Amino acid sequence: MHPLSIAATRAGRFLLDALLPPRCLNCGEAVADPGALCPACWGRLAFLDGPLCSCCGHPFEHEAGPGALCGSCAAARPPFRRARAVLRYEEGCRELILRFKHADRTDVAPALARWMGRSGAELIEDCDLVAPVPLHWTRLLKRRYNQAVLLSQRVAEAAGRPHAPDLLKRVRPAGERGRLTRRARRQRAARAFAVNVSWRERALGRTILLIDDVYTTGATVSACAEALLDAGAAMVDVLTVARVVRPL
Ligand SMILES: [Zn+2]
Ligand SMILES: [Zn+2]
Repeated sequence: MHPLSIAATRAGRFLLDALLPPRCLNCGEAVADPGALCPACWGRLAFLDGPLCSCCGHPFEHEAGPGALCGSCAAARPPFRRARAVLRYEEGCRELILRFKHADRTDVAPALARWMGRSGAELIEDCDLVAPVPLHWTRLLKRRYNQAVLLSQRVAEAAGRPHAPDLLKRVRPAGERGRLTRRARRQRAARAFAVNVSWRERALGRTILLIDDVYTTGATVSACAEALLDAGAAMVDVLTVARVVRPL
């Protein structure tokens, strides 16, 4: 597009934004501030701010003391140090995240990244480098953007941390994941990621903060963490918008 027409489009959008009342990111109701949720949608979000597994972030019903681990992490410690999420992945946030992921609703990214900045403050504080979970290029072509990059970029920017959008590459497509068992999924995820040669030196001995939209079984971020540690990173933490919570 000609630079002038880009400028005109931008100006037009700016005008529209000024004329139209801001809308709830989730349901489209009028709200006071742009880039926010209406009180009803906000009230349906389940924030993970109670006691949790010190490693994978699985919520506990009761306070379990510092360093407490869930059964799964106690049995087999994941390769990452800590995984934290803003929200429990359930009805209140599912639609919002799915639209962000698959329906070009990239305007949701700033709000999600803001929440991540708050919930993940400790992890962000400790990291040297912020990086997204990558998409395979075939999926990137289909979807046109990697939702994790939109988040990691903003999280890094807000915290003044270096952003490494291409730290990891996916060397094999994710494939059909839905019908796989947890074990099969883990096996498929292993060796699916590699550290980009151009980042190898800068990742050595560093603490990496991995960003993704949803933590499902932890298989994907575990595979990423393994690739990073194999390449010489010192530590990997994981921050996501939401986390699937299954009964322990
Ligand atoms: Zn709403
Ligand atoms: Zn755990």
